[in-house]
Amino acid sequence: MRLGFDIDGVVGDFVSLLSRKLKSKGYNVLEENYDRRYEGWSKEVGLTRPNFLKIISKVLNELNVNDMGLLDRRIPDYFSKMRARGNKIFFITHREKGIYDQTFKWLESHEIYHDGLYLVGDKKEVFKKLDLDFYVDDDVFELIHNDGSSVAKNVFLFGHSYNERDNINKVFSWEEIYNKIVILENEKKVF
Ligand SMILES: [Mg+2]
Repeated sequence: MRLGFDIDGVVGDFVSLLSRKLKSKGYNVLEENYDRRYEGWSKEVGLTRPNFLKIISKVLNELNVNDMGLLDRRIPDYFSKMRARGNKIFFITHREKGIYDQTFKWLESHEIYHDGLYLVGDKKEVFKKLDLDFYVDDDVFELIHNDGSSVAKNVFLFGHSYNERDNINKVFSWEEIYNKIVILENEKKVF
């Protein structure tokens, strides 16, 4: 099968890295209060959202991909098993193209191997090309095309506190992701 994964918030623990970095600069934010628009964190640090966004964009520029941990330490093992059974693995992320090498090396440093890494502004074009059987993202808008169709044959939102209101099929752990893929593989063998 052709399997696709977002990186930040699915494979890598982006929120933890960002909150650590903010704490090191004296902004005490709790990971569980993270939301994509940074509204919770703005309140926590007592700044208006526009002022806090300026700090965030500075911190984002300084972030080193290599400092980011995995969401689950078993991830490399899951990927190696999936590849050993002949699945193709693709990573599709919104990261800036300038950090392609850094991102490639980060995956490699965790012994995560793949068949394609895409750093793109518009993921939808890549989805059309890749024709994926399975895709996981932590952003609901990346799972559905404008016409309402799914970007892959099976799509799942990786559930976090910041997307709990989004009403779509969710997975909450890597064990769940892996088990779903095994089930799909078995279904394919039957037909
Ligand atoms: Mg993400």
